[in-house]
Amino acid sequence: FAPWTDPDAAPLIDFRGVTKRFGDFIAIDDLDLKIYPQEFFALLGPSGCGKTTLMRMLAGFEDPTEGTILLDGNDIAHVPPNKRAVNMMFQSFALFPHLTVRENIAFGLRRDGMERGAREARVDEMMRLVQLKDLGNRKPHQISGGQRQRVALARSLAKAPKLLLLDEPLGALDKKLREETQFELMEIQETTGTTFVIVTHDQEEAMTVASRVAVMNAGTLVQVDTPERIYEQPNSVYVADFIGDVNLIQGQARPNGGRVAVDVAEGVTLHAEGDVSGDVTYAVRPEKVTISPDKPEADNVVQGKVIDIGYLGLSSTYHVELPSGQVVKAMTANTRRATERPFDWEDEVWLGWSDAAGIVLTQ
Ligand code: ATP
Repeated sequence: FAPWTDPDAAPLIDFRGVTKRFGDFIAIDDLDLKIYPQEFFALLGPSGCGKTTLMRMLAGFEDPTEGTILLDGNDIAHVPPNKRAVNMMFQSFALFPHLTVRENIAFGLRRDGMERGAREARVDEMMRLVQLKDLGNRKPHQISGGQRQRVALARSLAKAPKLLLLDEPLGALDKKLREETQFELMEIQETTGTTFVIVTHDQEEAMTVASRVAVMNAGTLVQVDTPERIYEQPNSVYVADFIGDVNLIQGQARPNGGRVAVDVAEGVTLHAEGDVSGDVTYAVRPEKVTISPDKPEADNVVQGKVIDIGYLGLSSTYHVELPSGQVVKAMTANTRRATERPFDWEDEVWLGWSDAAGIVLTQ
């Protein structure tokens, strides 16, 4: 189900020509973006690119300087934060320390005047949703960090918002718990059908949880697409380089018999699918490059010398220097024991990859 591919689908959120200035500084620059009901949408980009500013405009803590934001087709410019069907969960969780877990979850419902029976039933439902089991009477300091995260999530979802904004929701958790919690978050998002917009610095996290990812740079959207397409078909050197590891080689492209040939050095020509000419960057992901002692059968074949080896347990990355001085990285899965490392420093090796693995970038 991919509503963004349907031109008739109605977006839940619609940014139209939104600009946000702080004095002379342009934090968000004439941005258009549609997010659809039930999406898990991730905003990704370096510090200062405007992720939090976008979220704060959705939540109602900031107004756009120019442009319009529609929620469910209605302009939300003058709707105060507490009147929007939007909730925001902060990295700090912001739980009330003197209230129990149940009281924390019930807080917004009580403030809205929901009567006791309905409120208790809703709190029970939220406790089940986030699997808090018997912790209802504990105070926040009597539960673990992961449990506090669940309480914050339950509290954010209690009022059944249409949109939940998550600002680095797993930032306070250690790596292992963080990875487990990513899958729980996806399950909860699916169960409730709430639209989630997450801000994260962690590209793996964004790729894991999100149906679509927006890669931002300096107040603009560089690419908005599924994780697979962002990774496999980046639209720019910026995106290719920001997401995952990549070899980037400068060259001159020319069409060549239904594919594109890129001259990257004296006597070294790389190929890819497509039809481009002029100055380009040739990109290929290290895991798509095979390394072998003998010349392989592949669309693209280069020879070089191992100058560096990065051992990561799961995989190793070999840095191979070509006679032209360019370095190409090849990543291999360590299915054999590392003590039986197949290649060593100074080894002469061959690298190979298919035309389909090559990406020719013009910007
Ligand atoms: P981070 O990942 O570090 O949180 P971000 O992508 O969320 O960064 P924003 O917090 O949206 O970035 O900030 C975007 C830019 O706008 C930054 O350069 C920031 O300094 C600036 N900015 C944000 N809020 C204000 C403000 N109230 N006054 C002036 N400048 C601001």
